[in-house]
Amino acid sequence: MPFNGLGLSDSLLKAIGELGFEKPTPVQAKAIPLILQGKDIIASAQTGTGKTAAFGLPTLDRLEPGKRIQCLVLEPTRELAQQVVDALESYSKHLSTRVGVVYGGVKYGRQREMLDKGVDILVATPGRLLDHIGQGNISLKNVQVLILDEVDRMLDMGFLPDVSRLIKMCPKDRQTLFFSATIPAAIQSMMKWVLSDPEVIEIGRNRSAAETVTHAFYPVVQQQKYDLLIKLLEQTQFESVLIFTRTKLNADLISRRLERLKHSVAVLHSDRAQGERTAALKGFKSGKFEVLVATDIAARGLDIAGVTHVINYDVPLNAEDYVHRIGRTGRAEKEGDAFTLLTEDELKNAAAIEHFVGQKIDRKKIEGFDYMYSRLFEEEEKTASRKANSRAYGRLSR
Ligand code: ADP
Ligand code: MG
Repeated sequence: MPFNGLGLSDSLLKAIGELGFEKPTPVQAKAIPLILQGKDIIASAQTGTGKTAAFGLPTLDRLEPGKRIQCLVLEPTRELAQQVVDALESYSKHLSTRVGVVYGGVKYGRQREMLDKGVDILVATPGRLLDHIGQGNISLKNVQVLILDEVDRMLDMGFLPDVSRLIKMCPKDRQTLFFSATIPAAIQSMMKWVLSDPEVIEIGRNRSAAETVTHAFYPVVQQQKYDLLIKLLEQTQFESVLIFTRTKLNADLISRRLERLKHSVAVLHSDRAQGERTAALKGFKSGKFEVLVATDIAARGLDIAGVTHVINYDVPLNAEDYVHRIGRTGRAEKEGDAFTLLTEDELKNAAAIEHFVGQKIDRKKIEGFDYMYSRLFEEEEKTASRKANSRAYGRLSR
């Protein structure tokens, strides 16, 4: 089905054409008509499948430009808020709808000026939004559409108190849209009070990694983790690689060590000043840096064209973060590869991830690396011989 069968206005179709979008992605084809009808939505679709346009395009179509905040989009990180407002701006090029963004880590002045001029759609991170509301710069009383992007993150323990407060400040009589790559069933029941008779859209198997990403675990002993990382980088034809670490300290350490090896490296975590964060991301996007070392702050939503590889230096503690992290590659139908270093003490987390994605993830060894012994290798051999036995048995019993 082409874009022009979905009921979007000509101004939007023109912008879509200029962006080079030829046909709607599956989540766009399902969500756009329903959102245009004013329905509440819970939509899950894999990483990199165009969820921003799925909620952005029909919402832009429904609003009458009027310079009061009629639509609020909540995002978990500053970088993601900026990316979403940039996307909305590109879709609304031929409309008079105004979009704006507020997030922390930068001065209030410019944000206040923008708010004074008036916007129709506001994209925000919760903390800074509450600050502006407290200062009387923002009112949510005209909100007709409330969008929670990365909704499972927005409703987890860290964000829930702020987000609940914000939801209560919006008029009851509104449209509410939930989007994410991972939506636990619990959210649907827990959030009954937020949604009204929602339509559920599920593209692909909820919780699964994008089909365009190949991923595997690389067992290794703790002492050899860094060496294996270097070996992986050496052996890989990467154009641009995103390395995730669990801690900010490790992100800094690894980036410094890679710099010494003459890689061009940037680092992104929440202890960096916002100016440094912006520069790191911009430089990585433009190709100035071939490696970005980041904490989970970069795990969700960021759309960086051409990330060929993701390396998890540590297994993420939350299973859903795994799906989001590896989803930074393989976007918009490109292919991507994801490696996860796995040590013995991380086996439990690895098992949780396999349970979450509903599949056993391959264990791989790389050629030409002088591995120290790990118990993990034995586990592999056991499973391998079990598999061989059961195959033999399968043949006999037939
Ligand atoms: P998600 O939120 O599902 O992870 P994004 O909204 O960030 O994905 O979109 C991923 C990329 O796909 C973006 O670069 C976006 O411009 C592009 N994209 C979105 N819709 C289409 C489409 N219909 N055709 C081609 N590319 C698209
Ligand atoms: Mg997204």
